[in-house]
Amino acid sequence: MEQLFGLDAVQFASSTPFIGHRVAKGRFDPVEAILYEYVLAGNGVVLKAHRDEFTISAPLAYREIKGLPEAFVGIKWHKPRIPGRIWDEICQHATIHNSKDNFKEELYLIYWGKVSDSWQWCTSGRDRKWASTIADDKMPEYSEACIEVHTHPAGAYQFSKADDGDESGKFRIFGIIVDVHDKPKVRFRCGIYDHLIPIPFSWIGQLPSTVVDLNEVEALLQMML
Ligand SMILES: [Zn+2]
Repeated sequence: MEQLFGLDAVQFASSTPFIGHRVAKGRFDPVEAILYEYVLAGNGVVLKAHRDEFTISAPLAYREIKGLPEAFVGIKWHKPRIPGRIWDEICQHATIHNSKDNFKEELYLIYWGKVSDSWQWCTSGRDRKWASTIADDKMPEYSEACIEVHTHPAGAYQFSKADDGDESGKFRIFGIIVDVHDKPKVRFRCGIYDHLIPIPFSWIGQLPSTVVDLNEVEALLQMML
């Protein structure tokens, strides 16, 4: 039996690519590659990746390709949508527990609690400073998290170079919360190993009404120009 399992494992390893390249057959083709897949579809080239909580299908290049079905673009959640209260609580925590005069970045993990069967969040900032913090990757919640969000000092509206380094090579959603004491704003992206792709917050959930999604505002501005 063990040998059979061994043979199967070898076959699996040799036939399943780490990175897939395929032509779309339908709107919701399953992801079969181990890391991610490039899909040529009727609406261009789409990057797709799957994990327990969600499947992401992100546009890399929009272009009409005649004769092919359009691929879904967005995040398909395999768990219930993350409730609005999680974002309310995180935004409130970021405001209340960060001093305006002595600001220190904080990091939040959002994960599916297997025991509670519901979405949970916790703080995980280590070595917290004015414009940097790193995730405490020894916490069990760290490996379970599918979303990692950190606060930025007022006016720092972009992910930093250090963020790019920390966040590449992983498959999870990353976000920043900026201006926590005055008209908070957020920006999100999905890390798909060596790709860091900006995404609108509407793919993830609903923000408190007082919080602005920078990616959404910028996309709207671009359409108007
Ligand atoms: Zn940052």
